[in-house]
Amino acid sequence: MLAGEYNNLLVLFSLLVAILASYTGLDMAGRIATAHGRAGYWWLAGGACAMGTGIWSMHFVGMLAFSLPIPLGYDLSLTALSLLIAIASSAFALWLVGQNELPVSRLFGGAVLMGAGVSAMHYTGMAAMRMTPGIQYVPALFALSIVIAILASAAALWIAFRLRRHSPLVRPIRAGAAVVMGVAIVAMHYTGMAAAEFPIGSVCGAVQNGVSTGWMALVIIVVTLAILAIALVISVFDLRLETRTATLAMSLAEANQELTYLALHDALTKLPNRVLLEDRLDRAAQDADREQGRFAVMFMDLDGFKAINDAYGHHVGDSLLVDVAERIRANVRTRDTIARVGGDEFVLLADVGEPADAATLAGKVLSAIREPFHMGGRELRVSTSIGIAMYPGDGLSPNDLLINADAAMYHAKALGRDSYCFFEASMNANVHEQLQLVQDLRAAVERHELVLQYQPKFAAPVGPVIGVEALVRWAHPTRGMIAPDEFIPLAEKTGLIVPIGEWVLDEACRQMSVWRNAGREDWTMAVNLSALQFRHVSLIQTVRDTLERHALAPHCLLLEVTESTAMHDVDASLRILEELHDLGVRISIDDFGTGYSSLLYLKRLPASELKIDRGFIRELARDTEDAAIVSAIVALGQTLNLIIVAEGVETLAQQEFLTRLGCDSLQGFLLGRPMSADHLMETISRDEAFPALAQLEPLRLEPAQPV
Ligand code: C2E
Ligand code: CA
Ligand code: CA
Repeated sequence: MLAGEYNNLLVLFSLLVAILASYTGLDMAGRIATAHGRAGYWWLAGGACAMGTGIWSMHFVGMLAFSLPIPLGYDLSLTALSLLIAIASSAFALWLVGQNELPVSRLFGGAVLMGAGVSAMHYTGMAAMRMTPGIQYVPALFALSIVIAILASAAALWIAFRLRRHSPLVRPIRAGAAVVMGVAIVAMHYTGMAAAEFPIGSVCGAVQNGVSTGWMALVIIVVTLAILAIALVISVFDLRLETRTATLAMSLAEANQELTYLALHDALTKLPNRVLLEDRLDRAAQDADREQGRFAVMFMDLDGFKAINDAYGHHVGDSLLVDVAERIRANVRTRDTIARVGGDEFVLLADVGEPADAATLAGKVLSAIREPFHMGGRELRVSTSIGIAMYPGDGLSPNDLLINADAAMYHAKALGRDSYCFFEASMNANVHEQLQLVQDLRAAVERHELVLQYQPKFAAPVGPVIGVEALVRWAHPTRGMIAPDEFIPLAEKTGLIVPIGEWVLDEACRQMSVWRNAGREDWTMAVNLSALQFRHVSLIQTVRDTLERHALAPHCLLLEVTESTAMHDVDASLRILEELHDLGVRISIDDFGTGYSSLLYLKRLPASELKIDRGFIRELARDTEDAAIVSAIVALGQTLNLIIVAEGVETLAQQEFLTRLGCDSLQGFLLGRPMSADHLMETISRDEAFPALAQLEPLRLEPAQPV
């Protein structure tokens, strides 16, 4: 037998290549398992090529490391065939571990097939030497080499299958496994080589190729290493990309979650909003039906919130709402739902069985909110009005429950606020009545059902008349005369106030021009503007057009704007008032003393008149505090050069006291009620004809003191 020799360096290289090829194979198995769609096939094809080339090159370098005392060569087509076998076996192995499961039977079958493949590659490679006489194989070692190939394949498949998913330690474990596999492959190869015996006188039939084995080995090693390295680099980059995609997908999911949260919650208080509330109400109703239970829906509206918002700004208003929400939350159980359904409106869905329990809970919430709030060094006080509807008695659908609780809340407000009220069927009638009223009001202007009455204003103390205030009434076809307090708020809520206001202005100006032509040139006509009218874009144009239409001098018109309207969004108010002022129209600040005017703004307002709210005048007799307020307002007005008007003068004592304080004009039932234009003219000409009538009760003017 010829004695073979090994080049140790090349043997070492063959081991290195085997390990690297194993690592690449394991890595590819992981990529195939996690790739989606067609990418999986590409990884399979690329991985099979890289791994197959690796294993084959290990084998071929091992062959090149071997030398006999005779010249050796390798047949090209058989060598290529052995490479193809290596790639095919690798493809099969990678496909196998890419499957979702790997039962023992499949593992075993796969190992046999793959072991056979690797052996076939090896012995085909040996055959490429085309030895004559043929190589003799020692049967035991030959069998052992095949057993090793199968066992190594089984281990490789099993390890690759276990390692295919990403886990924190996957890289070091994979490296260790690659070493084990590499050694196994090398062991198979050299066992196979040991099985081969070359009889003396053997000739290598493929020797004419005559390539220097050393150079060939180097080229193969470099090319193989390059292929394996490229495969690994691509794999690592792709993994990064995949990780990034996964991260992106995760943040997208988070963003979606956030959006859902926002859609169901109020941004300010983080409480559920109306949408979520209705869903909870639906569920509560289902639960209650199943367990024959009951629950309460409480509609809460803060009293006095608007005033705080107007006075201190939205910033303070917002923090107050957050604190209020917190106090409500602190007083209910976690399974109850509190939702914010409007500016200062909250709804509590409370799991209580008895109305008495609902009442207790409502009382608790009322007293919690009644406590002062401390905000930026200020002490703020608000209260709540609560309307309670019980399921199932007061409504079956979330909508009905909310409407009824809302109606009950309005009753609580009407009862004097800071209280709760249970829903009663009669309250609903009110809602329908209001709806009917809105419909009627819509048609009222066209049907000429609105009428104006005029209340005279007198120079203090007894006249003469210096002007009138136009006050609207609604002559309803079936309900009779309706007072403005009953329909102006409704008109304001529905926007109907705009056409109504235009009609009032037009009619008042028409009447005024009639009076002017009749010689009342020094009168002014006062017209009230509601908040919505005041802010309406077409206000200035409407006023200008109306004055023109009736050929009326602007200074004859006095527009009354309430203090709270003027002080809400002061800058915008100032702009509007200035434009009106520029038109030549005069401005009166109505209901003065009820809002939160800052002196600074008051000074900047281009107003010519302050009307002290009639609430102060009414209380004058009983309350010395009100007397102090009135005298302060008068002093303030005088400093600011404003005409001071007292409205709601009903008694001689009030007339006397207000005059003494320095009010310039008086208005009230004592001196003249609101009446029709004709009636007013009749009364005035009678008084003028018999001036003595007005003197019947002469005023005794004495030093002013609280009355
Ligand atoms: P206001 O601007 O404060 O009008 C004065 C109200 O006091 C009138 O009530 C008047 O009748 C009433 N009044 C006058 N003297 C006395 C008195 O001595 N004692 C008492 N207790 N009350 C007196 P009215 O006509 O019912 O109007 C109520 C409110 O409706 C008005 O308050 C005003 O804010 C609004 N309003 C009336 N007409 C119009 C209008 O044409 N447009 C707008 N936007 N609001 C109007
Ligand atoms: Ca007024
Ligand atoms: Ca007033």
